[in-house]
Amino acid sequence: MLSIHVLRYRTTKNYDMDIECRNRIGFDFSEGSGKTLHGVNPVSNTMIPDKFFTATPEDVDEAMHKAQTAFQKFSTTVWEERAAFLESIADEMEALGDLLIHRASEETGLPEARIIGERGRTTGQLRMFAQYIRTGNWVEATIDTAIADRSPVPKPDLRKMMVPLGPVVVFGASNFPLAYSVAGGDTAAALAAGCPVLVKAHPGHPGTSALVGEAIIKAAQMHDMPDGTFSLLYDNGFAVGQALVGHPYTTAVGFTGSVGGGRALFDIAAKRPNPIPVFAEMGSTNPVILLPEALKARSKEVAQEYAASITLGVGQFCTNPGLLFGIRGEELEEFKSHLKTAFIGTNPGTMLHEGIGKAFMQKSNKMLSEPDVAVLVESDKEATADQVRPTFATTKGSEFIKNPSLHEEVFGPFSMLIECENIDELDHCIKALHGQLTGTLIGEPDDFENHTALVYELQQKVGRLIFNGVPTGVEVCPSMMHGGPYPATTDSRFTAVGIHSIKRFLRPVAYQNTPHPLLPGPLKNENPNKIMRLVNGTYTTEPV
Ligand code: NAP
Repeated sequence: MLSIHVLRYRTTKNYDMDIECRNRIGFDFSEGSGKTLHGVNPVSNTMIPDKFFTATPEDVDEAMHKAQTAFQKFSTTVWEERAAFLESIADEMEALGDLLIHRASEETGLPEARIIGERGRTTGQLRMFAQYIRTGNWVEATIDTAIADRSPVPKPDLRKMMVPLGPVVVFGASNFPLAYSVAGGDTAAALAAGCPVLVKAHPGHPGTSALVGEAIIKAAQMHDMPDGTFSLLYDNGFAVGQALVGHPYTTAVGFTGSVGGGRALFDIAAKRPNPIPVFAEMGSTNPVILLPEALKARSKEVAQEYAASITLGVGQFCTNPGLLFGIRGEELEEFKSHLKTAFIGTNPGTMLHEGIGKAFMQKSNKMLSEPDVAVLVESDKEATADQVRPTFATTKGSEFIKNPSLHEEVFGPFSMLIECENIDELDHCIKALHGQLTGTLIGEPDDFENHTALVYELQQKVGRLIFNGVPTGVEVCPSMMHGGPYPATTDSRFTAVGIHSIKRFLRPVAYQNTPHPLLPGPLKNENPNKIMRLVNGTYTTEPV
């Protein structure tokens, strides 16, 4: 007889999967206070009947204690075991088959094809981290041997490596129910580093979270990882998330979501008696600079490309191009006319949940009510009550420079063309920008040669500089930088995508004149893991 807290589903590996509706406190369960939340299908606007129990402060405390206890064993698991654990999470996610795809699509309104792609990205990230931790490169082993007869003072033996921080709290965003959620980039990076993870499930996709959470627990049990390596807590308010960030055992936070949410959690972390880092990946308007020669050569092609990029996935990407800049003149008029033609036929769409749809309406209306902001073109297609209509606005460069409200992200299919009088005004607009995830330059070779200062100005503001492309689409590979100066993130020194995102959950420790038996393996003379090390200034895999 099944408990009422369990939903039973059959996986493609042909075994039954019990989906817990209770909070996962390590390997245990909690019904919290007995209060529940449920998912909503945003397309049919109907409640999904499965209920999930919201957590209490006691659950937070228990999960944190378990994580703290698990930390010592988990952080010292051999790399191969941790890598195999990550690979099993990916395998278990895949074993959920269509069940996961249907559920994520049902809870977010995102098409199944998009979810399938996102699952591939998520499992790919997990496997990529597994490979990376096997290399040992992430510990950045550095050895400077002693020089006893150095004058005027002897040089000590110094050896340094990266070690995991401790329990990490992860918040996912509604627009990536897999890739930036329970087993998304932050969780994969933190687990790879050897940090236990506590996820605050996004209330927009609780069933998806539960399924992925069970995949992680199953993999943890399969590889004998300690109880507390992973916990999953539900809430549809701020209390649980804020308690997790404020808990004395929390050592770092990975957050993906709105600027308001990320900033609130950053402030809580900063006010703790022992402040901790919050790696918040937040909103961005992803400026695009349209240079004159490019508009002369191919304004129609650029207009079509941008009409598609802005409306892709109902504009629900953190890299959505929200601001386009051009210089007034014949070429820009031609671009506007092509943009109108390409944009007017774009489709309205349903956003991830009612709250995000309402926020879009409110923010886009507010933007359009600002002085000197007008609609350039709107989709003319019929929209149902739950759908939003793609909108392209326009304003003057001088207004953009003086009105800070025009710099805010409108999350969804909304973009604005900033029409500048001349190159100097465009330069001032770029200087006035906040920090961004991406900045794009659309230009011909002559444009880039003539405007090297603009390229420099834009690079000062962004994490990723794009030449002749669209910012949507974030390749997962070691050279990707997904981050940027505030408010794109709270720490521009790190990427949230790719293997180097592991650095957020590690800290360096130096060992001075340490007796050889006490040195960790990566710093021992014989180099037992045969990893690349920087020894007395030279990269080598040779023993010392
Ligand atoms: P969100 O509303 O900020 O929610 C993210 C998570 O944070 C949710 O679990 C939410 O809990 C929690 N939260 C928000 N404010 C909080 C507070 N004050 N205290 C405690 N917890 C809080 O973001 P979203 O609507 O899901 O995502 C859309 C946003 O994410 C967009 O701005 C988009 O640009 C950004 N995004 C950025 C990236 C990136 O990589 N930079 C990627 C994807 C999305 P509740 O829902 O329970 O309130």
